[in-house]
Amino acid sequence: MISSKSNREIELMRQAGKIVALAHQEVAKYIVAGVTTKKLDQIVEKVIRDHDATPSFKGYGGFPASICASINDTLVHGIPDDTVLKSGDIISIDIGACYKGYHGDSAWTYAVGEVSQEAVHLMEVTKESLFVGLAKAKPGSRLGDISNAIGEYVFSFGYSVPLEYAGHGIGSSLHEEPSIPNFGQAGRGVVLKEGMTLAIEPMVHRGKPFTRVLADDWTVKTKDGSLAAHYEHTIVITAQGYEILTTL
Ligand code: MG
Ligand code: MG
Repeated sequence: MISSKSNREIELMRQAGKIVALAHQEVAKYIVAGVTTKKLDQIVEKVIRDHDATPSFKGYGGFPASICASINDTLVHGIPDDTVLKSGDIISIDIGACYKGYHGDSAWTYAVGEVSQEAVHLMEVTKESLFVGLAKAKPGSRLGDISNAIGEYVFSFGYSVPLEYAGHGIGSSLHEEPSIPNFGQAGRGVVLKEGMTLAIEPMVHRGKPFTRVLADDWTVKTKDGSLAAHYEHTIVITAQGYEILTTL
């Protein structure tokens, strides 16, 4: 049973979401050749703490940082370190903030300087697939309608999605039921109701869907080394459709 959130809970998630959006806005200014991913992590952590929130990811399952910083063929869960960004890289930054016990979660892929046409296209398709999926988010729709819309859009460009990573419910826990895959059958799954809060997050590979996890037990890369992109918003289902919570 997936419960709807109260208005009070949704308001706290709106605050958490704003803090995540502010952190993205701030970190975006620093995404240039020469910066380390550790520096980006510090910038985000400061924004989150300056707004009386805590980084949702830090310590989650032992994750050591406030952001996931995933470069080029890293799909998700890259650990910030002394890696220096260079022009032509793409980097997916995933940010979570917890405000008064409620979470916001949003990822975005950024270009570092001039990037290839292939990278630009992958980013555009992945970002668009998020909104194609969101267009299905309304009371009475089924979860599979969102999953199917994302998958069909992505596959129409010959791209793929990883099978084992998905969006999720969110609230007082970072990850709640249900799991929201980026592919699936329309008309199947949970019926959406007003007040449900979900993190929709297409992850897209230019190549095949297979992944591998590095020895650090976190970093997930595409197995074939192809580029990957990742866009995510936390939303609440409203009477009319949906509201994005991870926005300013
Ligand atoms: Mg996320
Ligand atoms: Mg998420």
